[in-house]
Amino acid sequence: MCGITAISANKEALPFLLQGLEKLEYRGYDSAGITTIEGNHLFTKKAKGRLQNLKDLLKDENVLGHVGIGHTRWATHGIPSNLNSHPHTNNDETISLVHNGIIENYRELKEILILQGYQFHSETDSEVAAALLNHYYKGDPKEAIKKTVSKLKGTFALVILFEDQPDVIYSIRNVSPIVATICKEGAMLASDLTALCRFTNEYFVVPEYHILELHKDHVVL
Ligand code: GLU
Repeated sequence: MCGITAISANKEALPFLLQGLEKLEYRGYDSAGITTIEGNHLFTKKAKGRLQNLKDLLKDENVLGHVGIGHTRWATHGIPSNLNSHPHTNNDETISLVHNGIIENYRELKEILILQGYQFHSETDSEVAAALLNHYYKGDPKEAIKKTVSKLKGTFALVILFEDQPDVIYSIRNVSPIVATICKEGAMLASDLTALCRFTNEYFVVPEYHILELHKDHVVL
């Protein structure tokens, strides 16, 4: 299980995401990635290896968006590679998520989804969560998250962006930790307090099986 950081900020999200991932580097990882959302467009970049590889890829990009999610991966299912790195998106790239933990029943779920015509691009257990969200999403994120999570066995911290909900970050967890806060820069969450503590010493641990919504000036549980 490695690192997650996310922010709904009152300015560009990318610097916060990269700084958050730097703080999480001490945990060890094999790849890193981010998704930001600008207007109704998700922008995802990920790279195997050091965080610096991701930073190099982003150097010439104009990454806009006040809302974003970031991940450092410690591979449990699938080799360390660009494709297996997080975030994972659904087939039409309208949903993006990062995952910490292990989805134990991913093989069964993957087989069913493939039979239904879904195309997988990675070897990870995590991509199954993106595929299920894709299957269940009919315009209500919370419904889709509830239905998705009801199918998952294992440990997870999921942090999700929906292209058509550009101001909100959604999260839900079982066992794998998520802490969240609101501070003057916006609303943030992370898998580990070290990514938040330079902003605030007030935070809360997200309870298991509760859907967290991060808006830039408030959170809803
Ligand atoms: N099981 C997932 C993977 O292999 C998440 C690993 C992690 O927690 O970093 O991609």
